Amino acid sequence: MTHEFSGTVEEIGEGATSVTVGEKVAVAPLVPCGTCENCQKGEPAMCTNYSFIGSREQGAMAEYVVVPEKNCVKVPANLSLKEAALLEPLTVAIHGIERVRISAGVDVLVLGAGTIGLLTVLSLRAIGVGKITVVDLNDKKLEVAKAIGADETINPLTQTLEDYYQENRRPEVAIETAGSSITQKQAVEFVAKRGKVVYVGTSTRDVIFDPETFEKILRGELEVTGSWMSYSAPFPGYEWETGLRYMSTGEIDVKPLITGTYHLEDVAEPFDKMVEKKSAAVKLLYAINEEK
Ligand SMILES: [Zn+2]
Repeated sequence: MTHEFSGTVEEIGEGATSVTVGEKVAVAPLVPCGTCENCQKGEPAMCTNYSFIGSREQGAMAEYVVVPEKNCVKVPANLSLKEAALLEPLTVAIHGIERVRISAGVDVLVLGAGTIGLLTVLSLRAIGVGKITVVDLNDKKLEVAKAIGADETINPLTQTLEDYYQENRRPEVAIETAGSSITQKQAVEFVAKRGKVVYVGTSTRDVIFDPETFEKILRGELEVTGSWMSYSAPFPGYEWETGLRYMSTGEIDVKPLITGTYHLEDVAEPFDKMVEKKSAAVKLLYAINEEK
């Protein structure tokens, strides 16, 4: 497990030249095959035969992890390893936004205030958009969203989106990060005509569009797309460079999202925290051989 991580280079393999011992790095977890048609086209995220550090191979929930040198991204001196551990999810947010080519000043609806939703808010603010509205069932996460730059937050348990959009202008863009079949439908339902919808959150259930909702895509001539991982060419891509630059300049501060730090000895404690109902935990880190 663990594909979002950073660390200090302890040892380098024979022939590795782009990293040095003692260097701080964040690691891109995708290991594309390099030979399939999509890799050849310079689309590593579309690789049909990839490996992945932290899912398809051993991840960073360990003292040491072996990674290819080209997956290492140097962490600027003014960033901590903890902040750098959030680079991977930040790149996912940046990539999702890029999929809908957002123009300056447009209003955006962000569905879901989990890690990716919140990092999307931070990225939208850094890029420069109009009004950002965030939807989530957890008030504590909505408070974080507000604190980091959301203009409005809606908890559908107390205010329906139907009611909200009776009074308010519809957003030009909807970014779905929750992966819930309800928000996946709402993205299409509430975006403005000629609007754009991007699906970032993965599905775990059937997503049912009734005829009326489906017709919104036709009548509104919506642009509906998906977003997958966070890579481009040259590997690992602009997402990684941009994410680090925003963090390094301070345009994006991920620290408010780090709500706890643990050690490996704490075993499942952070997981238990995450699954607690109404948990305020956003991102919990394991700090290994590091300050807690
Ligand atoms: Zn490939």
